[in-house]
Amino acid sequence: MLEQEKIHQVECQISIVVPMYNESPNVAVFFQRLVPILESTGLSYEIICVNDGSDDDTLVRLQKERQNNHAIAIIDLSRNFGKELALTAGLNFSRGNAVIPIDSDLQDPPELIISMIAKWREGYDVVYAVRSSRSGESFMKRLTAKMFYNTINYITDIDIPRDTGDFRLLDRRVVDVLNKIPENTRFMKGLFAWVGFKQTGIFFDRDPRFSGETKWNYWKLWNFAIDGITLFSATPLKVWTYAGFSIALLSLLFAVFVIIKTLVKGIDVPGYASIMVTVLFIGGIQLLSVGIMGEYIGRIYTEAKRRPLYIVNKVYGIKDDSTT
Ligand code: UDP
Ligand code: MG
Repeated sequence: MLEQEKIHQVECQISIVVPMYNESPNVAVFFQRLVPILESTGLSYEIICVNDGSDDDTLVRLQKERQNNHAIAIIDLSRNFGKELALTAGLNFSRGNAVIPIDSDLQDPPELIISMIAKWREGYDVVYAVRSSRSGESFMKRLTAKMFYNTINYITDIDIPRDTGDFRLLDRRVVDVLNKIPENTRFMKGLFAWVGFKQTGIFFDRDPRFSGETKWNYWKLWNFAIDGITLFSATPLKVWTYAGFSIALLSLLFAVFVIIKTLVKGIDVPGYASIMVTVLFIGGIQLLSVGIMGEYIGRIYTEAKRRPLYIVNKVYGIKDDSTT
């Protein structure tokens, strides 16, 4: 290892990890706000920007920023891999004793980093930021978010803190554990909770996006929620044992009723409605349960392929020792 790299490794105390997808108008203003805060801590830092296959000139703007500040490193991915994997790439490349993932649209106020570092010094391994308000988010988004947290915390063993994003401080020990997790389909919020360690939250008001559009729509959020639940719980698979058992029991009661009725009243041909309802209901339930099995099998398939999590096109500012 070169002497200079060694020094850099020892010296880097804070790593900021920023996934960026089409964030061109936010780049300059993001650094304008972030860098003075990092400087004020007096700690050495690196800012790892992961360009997640942007179609706009995010990369060019990042390179321009890098000319002025060599603490900025860029991981350019070969295409859009999605925020979870962009974040994973950033965590893999980070070297700081504390690592802070943050969004580049200024929805996560960089000012909070100061308080995170203070808590870290008190001995916490994870300091997550909790949104005390979700301004700029619709009633529908807030409602569905609430339903999601209720469901996932009820049916899984992990306890995901409500209204948190990926914005948090992670101690090096936590990042090392996360980097060892080989899962392809990643739900970072779940993994952050799953690793354990000493965790605490600090509150903040979430601002609306500085510029541009959110990359999420309800369909994407729905799939994200399904990922979160299926990756951390097998309950949706097991529930069919009980559903099947209950339906079988009800059918038995119904059979007894039908037999007695036939014996008492004789053969009663009309019965179209009850047959249709039963057939359609059971058919629906069967398809639903097969569909849920499909969700899990699909995930087994994805994991079984063992493809690399992401592909790096080019790295600017860090020795490229990982191209997974
Ligand atoms: N992002 C990314 N890849 C994607 C989508 C988003 O790296 O495929 C980044 C995006 O540039 C931003 C962060 O993830 O820095 C959060 O995205 P967004 O603001 O769209 O999400 P929201 O704040 O609405 O949850
Ligand atoms: Mg955002």
